[in-house]
Amino acid sequence: MPELPEVETVRMQLRHKVIGKTIDRVEVFHSKTVVFDDQIEEKLRGKTLADIDRIGKLLIFSFVGENNLFLLAHLKMTGQFFYVGKDRRVVGGGHSATVADRTLPGRHTRIAFHFTDGTTLFFNDMRLFGYTKIASAEEVERARACFGPEPIALDFDCEWFVGKVRARKTSIKAALLDQSFIAGLGNIYVDEALWRAQVRPTRRADRVTKKEAAALCAAAGDVMKESIAVGGTTFQHFVDTGGENGNFTDHLKVFGQHGKTCERCGATIKKIRCAGRGTHYCPGCQK
Ligand SMILES: [Zn+2]
Repeated sequence: MPELPEVETVRMQLRHKVIGKTIDRVEVFHSKTVVFDDQIEEKLRGKTLADIDRIGKLLIFSFVGENNLFLLAHLKMTGQFFYVGKDRRVVGGGHSATVADRTLPGRHTRIAFHFTDGTTLFFNDMRLFGYTKIASAEEVERARACFGPEPIALDFDCEWFVGKVRARKTSIKAALLDQSFIAGLGNIYVDEALWRAQVRPTRRADRVTKKEAAALCAAAGDVMKESIAVGGTTFQHFVDTGGENGNFTDHLKVFGQHGKTCERCGATIKKIRCAGRGTHYCPGCQK
């Protein structure tokens, strides 16, 4: 499943390609992907893309002059966006992108947005868990209400975080994974942030010190920003919409590193289960 840095990478790169383009035709190859909306083409024809926003891992397309019409898109497990320009150059984002995926439309193409300038945005999804769905302003607001602030937001308040996280009765790992508390940290990035802050994932959140919580706040923001800067984590063949592989994998200090030596203290990294997830930490330097 792509994590937030991958979705943010797709968002930033798609923005360069499709903003300002006007939808001419919408071709639906699988109606489940459009949640069985047989009027999606009617609703979108002639609309010009104004922006692409994001709530957690949900992408939100808005349109010029429309304040009650949005297109929500979720990649889920295997969703990918591919943009085909006038020169037929294909650029894509999502994961598990193989050469076969790049024949468009392909076997896994679920929907195609054809623009008036002859370019096309394809949505491929092998497993069919992803979707593109028309939504009203109210639905967008409802989705927004399910998510807490993001550590990568410019106005993220560390003082607020320190106070709130230390009031939680779960493990610190579970607290950080709770998207309604803070949004955007998935399994990989929680493990990495905890390693950086030297806090053990199984510690109870209400026993984390103020100093540790402040270190966690900084680590959470840094690890996400660093991953976005390199286009996400590649271990599932993530391909960003510029067609390059993201490579945050090279920067992982604990996630997937069990059995290896901790670069900070030399102890052997362990893998356990915590908050229902495979969890990696260093028993030497994470207290
Ligand atoms: Zn260590």
